[in-house]
Amino acid sequence: MVVYKSDMKPVAIIGGGITGLTAAFNLRQRGIPVALYEGSGRVGGVIRTVRENGYLAECGPNTILETSPRIGDLIRDAGLELRQLYSDPDAEKRYLVRDKQLINLPASPLGFLTTRLFSWRAKASLLFEPFRRRAVSDQEESLADFVLRRLGHEFLDYAINPFVAGVYAGDPERLSVKHAFPKLYALEQRYGSLIKGQILGASERKRQGTVSKQNAKKISFDEGLQVLTDTLGEKLGEQVRLNHAVKRISHSTDGDGWRIDFEKDGSNVSSSHSGVLLTLPAYCLVDLEIHSQDKLVDMALLGQIEYPPVTSVVLGFRRGDVSHPLDGFGVLIPQVEKFNSLGSIFSSSLFPGRCPEGHIAFTSYVGGTRSPDLALRKPDEIISLVMEDLRVLVGLSGQPTYTHVCCYPRAIPQYNIGFGRVKARMDEIEQEASGVFLGGHFRDGISLGDSILAGYNAADRISEYLISK
Ligand SMILES: Cc1cc2nc3c(=O)[nH]c(=O)nc-3n(C[C@H](O)[C@H](O)[C@H](O)COP(=O)(O)OP(=O)(O)OC[C@H]3O[C@@H](n4cnc5c(N)ncnc54)[C@H](O)[C@@H]3O)c2cc1C
Repeated sequence: MVVYKSDMKPVAIIGGGITGLTAAFNLRQRGIPVALYEGSGRVGGVIRTVRENGYLAECGPNTILETSPRIGDLIRDAGLELRQLYSDPDAEKRYLVRDKQLINLPASPLGFLTTRLFSWRAKASLLFEPFRRRAVSDQEESLADFVLRRLGHEFLDYAINPFVAGVYAGDPERLSVKHAFPKLYALEQRYGSLIKGQILGASERKRQGTVSKQNAKKISFDEGLQVLTDTLGEKLGEQVRLNHAVKRISHSTDGDGWRIDFEKDGSNVSSSHSGVLLTLPAYCLVDLEIHSQDKLVDMALLGQIEYPPVTSVVLGFRRGDVSHPLDGFGVLIPQVEKFNSLGSIFSSSLFPGRCPEGHIAFTSYVGGTRSPDLALRKPDEIISLVMEDLRVLVGLSGQPTYTHVCCYPRAIPQYNIGFGRVKARMDEIEQEASGVFLGGHFRDGISLGDSILAGYNAADRISEYLISK
C-alpha cells in the first residue's frame, strides 16, 4: 500500500451523485483524505427512491447493469451484499412494439428467424452484413447512418430507435455512434462486421471478466437504488458536506494545491485541497469559474452537451386490471408506432416488494429528444397520456391505485455528433488546470455502471497524480 503524506490536504470531490460518491469512497479506502461537496441537501444525484403506500418508486434509474467486477466490489465494500437483489430470472423477456402489439425481442438465432418483429427481407439482409464496407470517412457518423449502412431501415426503426429511447431518451439521427455506442463502433473498426464482432468479441470479454450490456445481470436493492448512494454517503460521514454549492476554483495562494470557494447558508466560504474532481452535470460545469495560474479556464464548449427533459411515471394497479402476463423486463416503443411514452418497465415483475400484494407497478418514461414538450406537461396530463398507452399495450382497464410523477428538466446527456470535440476539450481542461479532474456521466458513459467505473478511474488517476507530485 502506498503511504501518502500525513499532512496531505484532502482531495475535493465536487458533486455527490454515484460518480462522486464512488470516487470519494475509493480514495478513502486508499488512505487519501477527501471532502465531498454536494450543492443540494442530499447525496445520490439523479438516483432517488420513494417508498409510500406500500409502493417503491424509482424516480430516476431503475437498475445497475453488472458489466464489470468493480460494481460488485463497490457493493461488497459498502457492506450491501445482503441487501442487493438481482432481477427475477423469469423477467428476462424484453418486449418491443410493432403494429401496436407487444412482440418479444428474440434472444436466440431460432427466435430471430421466427419473430414477427422483422420482415423476411430484413432478416435475409443480415446475411450480407459481414460483407458490407466499413465507414470511409473519419468524420463522426450518426448512429442512424451507421445502422442504415450496416443493417437497413427496419432495424433502425424497430430495434435501434426504441433501444436508444430506452438508454439515452435520444435521437439516433443525432447521436454519434463513435461516442454514444463506442463498443458498437469498435466492432466495425476491429472486425469489419457487427455479427462477426459479436461472436469473436465474446471470448475477449470472458478473458477480461467483463459482460456485455445485453447479457449483464440487473441489480437493485431491497429498498431501491438509493440504498447504495445513502450507504456510501453514511460511510463517508463528516467528509460529506451537503448544501455546499461550489462556485469558483483557483490555485491556492501558497502555491500548493487548489482553493475552492462555495456558497453555504448564503455566505461565501473557502477551503484548500490537494486536488479536485468535478462530477457535476455539464450544464453546471459551465457555470464554474476555474482560474489556473490567474487565467480563466474556458468551459464554454461543455455547455453544448444537450440534456433533454425526461419524466418518469410510476403507476400502480390491481393485478386484475391488466390482462398482459407482464412476464418480462418491460416494453420499448419505436417512434414510428406513435405512442406518447418512450417505454415502460414492469417494475413489480423485476424485484420483490415494489407494490402491495395483489397489485402491479409500471415505471414509464415520457419526453427525451423525441417529445421534450410532453415531459414538461402537468403531472395529471402525463399520467393520462401514459395510461392511454398502457390500455393499448398491456390491456389496462382500471384506475391507478398509486401514482408518482417525477420530472428531470435536464435528464440525460446526449453524446451527439461533435461530441469528440467536447471530449477533447475536457482533456485540454485537465492539462490547463493540473490537479483538476473531470469524470462522470458527461464524459465516461451515461449508465450507472459507467458512472461507477468513472468514479474508480478518477480515483486511480488522482492517486497517481498525488504520488507524482
Ligand atoms: C430518468 C433517468 C433514468 C435513468 N435510468 C437509468 C437506468 O435505469 N440505468 C442506468 O444505468 N442509468 C440510468 N440513468 C443514468 C444514470 O442514472 C446517470 O448517468 C448517473 O446516475 C449519473 O451520476 P453522476 O454522479 O455522474 O451525476 P449526477 O447524478 O447528476 O450527480 C451530480 C451531482 O452534482 C451536484 N451538483 C451540481 N452542481 C453542483 C455544485 N455547483 N456544487 C456541488 N454539487 C453540485 C448535483 O446536485 C448532483 O447531486 C438514468 C438517468 C435518468 C435521469
